[in-house]
Amino acid sequence: MGYQPPHGLQLVYDPNNGSCHFVLYSEPPGIGPGIALNGGKILTIDKTTDGKAVTAGSPYAEEWVQRLEPCAPDALHVALVGSKDAAALWHPCVYDDPQSPVAIAGDGCVCWQTFHDPVTWMPVAANHFRTVSGNHENWRYHTCSPLGFPDGERLASLIIDGGQIWIRNQDGTLHFLPEAYGAGYGTGYGGGGPTELARMIEKIVQQDGYDITPGTASGMPDRKILAWVSSPAAKHRQELSLDQLKRLRRTGMIT
Ligand SMILES: [Zn+2]
Repeated sequence: MGYQPPHGLQLVYDPNNGSCHFVLYSEPPGIGPGIALNGGKILTIDKTTDGKAVTAGSPYAEEWVQRLEPCAPDALHVALVGSKDAAALWHPCVYDDPQSPVAIAGDGCVCWQTFHDPVTWMPVAANHFRTVSGNHENWRYHTCSPLGFPDGERLASLIIDGGQIWIRNQDGTLHFLPEAYGAGYGTGYGGGGPTELARMIEKIVQQDGYDITPGTASGMPDRKILAWVSSPAAKHRQELSLDQLKRLRRTGMIT
C-alpha cells in the first residue's frame, strides 16, 4: 500500500515563496498506476554556461535535468510558480531576447523555462537568475517530489548527493527521496535534517525497500543509523544499496 493522504488534506498555497503544496496523482505509461507526488521541491544549480544549467558537479542532478523535456507552460506550471510569476512563464530568456520583459538592463534575467518529467509526467519550472553583467547566475528547478511509487516497486539504492537525497528504483529510475512538507534531510552534522534522514533509512529497512512514503514517526531514530548519518563519513556523495542500508541498521557501518 502506497501513500495515503491524511484525513482532511489541505491545499497550502504560498505565492510569496513561489511554491504550492498539493497532491497530484499520475499514471505514466510504462510505470503504471499508483504514483502520487507533492509540490514544493526545489533543486538549485549554481553553475551555468551560456545561460544553460551545468550539472557537472552532480551526476544525479545531471541525470534528472537531462531527462526533462521542454514544453509549453500549462496550468500545472502556474500552480508551481504561483500567480505572481505566472505571466513570466511565457516570456523568453534574455539569451533569446534582450528586450524580453524578464530581461534586466540587457543581460540580467529572471525568466522561467518550463519542462515536464517524462518519467512521472510532473511539471518542472526552472527559474533563471542572472545579475546584470552575470556575476551571479543560477537556476532553481521547481517541481514535485514523489509521495509514493506504484505498488510492488522497490528501492534499489539511496543516494546522498550534497544536500540532495535521491533514490533509485530497481528498474534504475532516479527520483527525489519522498519528503514530508517541512521535514528536509541532511548529513554530516547533529540536527533535525540528519535525524529525519536516519528515521527514513530505518523506515526503508523496516519496509524492505517497499512503500517508501514521506514522513516518519517522531522520536529518536535508531542510534547506530543516526551516528553514521551525523558523521563526516555521510557527507560525501555516495550511493548506498538496500543491503548496505540493512547493514547500517545492523552494525552501524555501511561496509
Ligand atoms: Zn533567462
